[in-house]
Amino acid sequence: MDCIFCKIVEGKIPSRKVYEDDDMFAFHDIHPVAPVHFLIVPKRHVDSLATAGDEHAAVLGRMMAMAGRLARQEGATDGFRTIVNTGRVGRQDVYHLHIHIIGGPDPLPRMISKE
Ligand code: 5GP
Ligand code: ZN
Repeated sequence: MDCIFCKIVEGKIPSRKVYEDDDMFAFHDIHPVAPVHFLIVPKRHVDSLATAGDEHAAVLGRMMAMAGRLARQEGATDGFRTIVNTGRVGRQDVYHLHIHIIGGPDPLPRMISKE
C-alpha cells in the first residue's frame, strides 16, 4: 500500500522519532504549527477514525494514554492539544490515522472560531 506513514513506520521514509513500541510510532510533524508538534500513529495501518472499530480500541487507547508522557518529554509541560482530523470534512490529508500533539510554552489559539 502506498502510504507515507506506513513508510515512516517502516523506516523507508526518514522521520524524527519521538517514541516507538510494538503498537505505535510517534514522530515530529514535518510542518510544525507550534513549538511542539508531533504525531502518534498505530503501526498497523488504519485509514481514519471513521473506519476504526472495536479491533482498534486497544491501540487507540494506548496512544491516548501515552500522549501526556510524550508531550512532557518534548517540552509541552503545561498542557497541549490533541487533534484527529478525520475524512473530507475533518480536512484529513494523510489517510493513516494519526493523533496530532500540539503545544509549547504559550497557550494556543482557541480551537475553532465561532464564525
Ligand atoms: P492531517 O491533515 O492528515 O491531519 O495531517 C497530516 C500531517 O502530516 C500534516 O501536519 C503534515 O505536515 C504531516 N506530514 C505529511 N507528510 C509528512 C512527512 O513525510 N513527514 C512528516 N514528519 N510529517 C508529514
Ligand atoms: Zn499507512
